[in-house]
Amino acid sequence: MIIVLLGPPGTGKGTQATAIKERYGIPHVSTGDILRANLAQGTPLGLEAKAYMEKGELVPDALILDLVADRLTLPDCQKGVLLDGFPRTLAQAEAFDRALVAQKKAIDHVLFLSVPEDALTRRLAGRRVCRGCAATYHVDFNPPPASLVCPGCQGEIYQRADDSQEAIRNRLKVYNDLTDPLIGYYREKAYLREVDGSESPARVAEAIARSLS
Ligand code: AMP
Repeated sequence: MIIVLLGPPGTGKGTQATAIKERYGIPHVSTGDILRANLAQGTPLGLEAKAYMEKGELVPDALILDLVADRLTLPDCQKGVLLDGFPRTLAQAEAFDRALVAQKKAIDHVLFLSVPEDALTRRLAGRRVCRGCAATYHVDFNPPPASLVCPGCQGEIYQRADDSQEAIRNRLKVYNDLTDPLIGYYREKAYLREVDGSESPARVAEAIARSLS
């Protein structure tokens, strides 16, 4: 089972990924999480990606394609994968299709989570994330503990550099310019399923389950 989660930053892809991966028994592969882990460890990939990520720009396609190809060779991806944050450009989508054809595989579903842009800005600006387990909080809707220590893993809860107002504006523009065209691309291939992501996480999860069944 190969599922691609598509949608602007802040639509709740990471939150929804947990339920989907458990349902299908497939790993959740988030290119953003992999890049942030590389950044934290100071790897050459992390150092190269840092400046792009902080500004809300996309990391060059070639780096991302290598990263995804490496990750998909690991044994846990044998049964499939839930991709979150990839592909993000037409070039990435086409390269991914070519790689799948070569392996006689195909995407099963592309889930597009849609949320109006003003709601996205509010979600992203108030978002706080655990450095340890990537659990997400929101200063208004799901406040983190005052200690900023994650109850799940004791990791530090922080605000991502790319959740600043300026980076958010840039990320939404980059999404509209480079990632939004993928909706038409996947709709033509009949993979696309659209779900309204503006409801509560529980209701969105129900809508996703209906849409995938
Ligand atoms: P995310 O956590 O998915 O919002 O990703 C955070 C940042 O990582 C993005 O703003 C990009 O700088 C970078 N990134 C993640 N996935 C990709 C991708 N598929 N292509 C290019 N850059 C990416």
